[in-house]
Amino acid sequence: MKPRVELRDDGPVATPSDTDRVLLERCAWCEAEFDPHAPRRRGRVLCRRCGAYTTSPWPDEATLEAAYGGAYRPTDGRFSGPGDRLLALTRSRLAARIDGIAPPGGVLDVGAGPGTLVRALRRRGRPALGLERTDVAPATGGAEPAVPEPSLSGPSVIDARLGDVRGTMAAVVFWHSLEHLPRPLAALRQAVALLGPGGVVAIAVPNAASLQARVFGDEWLHLDLPRHLTHVPATTLIESLERLDLQVERVSYWRGGQVLIGWLHGLVRALPGHPSLYDALRRPDARWQQMSSLRRGGILLTAVLLAPVAAVMSLVELAMRRGGSVYVEARND
Ligand SMILES: [Zn+2]
Repeated sequence: MKPRVELRDDGPVATPSDTDRVLLERCAWCEAEFDPHAPRRRGRVLCRRCGAYTTSPWPDEATLEAAYGGAYRPTDGRFSGPGDRLLALTRSRLAARIDGIAPPGGVLDVGAGPGTLVRALRRRGRPALGLERTDVAPATGGAEPAVPEPSLSGPSVIDARLGDVRGTMAAVVFWHSLEHLPRPLAALRQAVALLGPGGVVAIAVPNAASLQARVFGDEWLHLDLPRHLTHVPATTLIESLERLDLQVERVSYWRGGQVLIGWLHGLVRALPGHPSLYDALRRPDARWQQMSSLRRGGILLTAVLLAPVAAVMSLVELAMRRGGSVYVEARND
């Protein structure tokens, strides 16, 4: 997921500097000024006004370029074995859900990755279009190309800014993309402005108030620094949507996905040598650090042994409604 759906309206939040990693003076979520005693954790600072963490220091272009480089999204898919097929299956379930709740019209997927959800929507006869930055640095100069309307054919994903999208959408989806955007609330405002009557936003983000976030702290898988720029509790997201005059219709800790892997990765990581299950599950060219097949086998075996513990902890946090990620649907009146 690329971070830069460039936002056009000028606001108080600093954008990443070209030269230096910067300390943000304002919360990237609610844009309130940090007080001098704002609690800091490794790589992030807490806004006491809204409860969200902002990544700190704020990554510059070069840092993001490196963080999103080849290994993050190689052309052949990210995961070994059934992982990528599982992703396709979950996207087609999400497509069915969105198609079922949205009024007639097009769907915009912001941070669409390779376009799996867009293609799944089109297969259902739902016009759709995905936005994804293919370069971290925004293009400079030249006229902005017109953004096509969501359709059943043509390119499924285009490199364009949310602010350049015109027209009326039946739904706007942010599937684990909002946390990558430098100004997530501005993006939500733009999304709401695109919604027609009864239109829906569907959002999945890691839940910074989850039990797994609490247990694993700085080692929590879904912190994903520096790619994730904000770390938002579910309640903060819901309050923000209500403040945008949307009706929150569904909050689910199941549908957001990524709960079990968050536990399993954290449990394996706590062992001596801090092995990375997430890396072991990825294809060799998609790993952050190379590992021998013996070590990889050891990590995977450990994960199998710890899977029952991770499954129980997943059920516990879901029952507490403190799941590792949260999925929210909210409707425009
Ligand atoms: Zn805030």
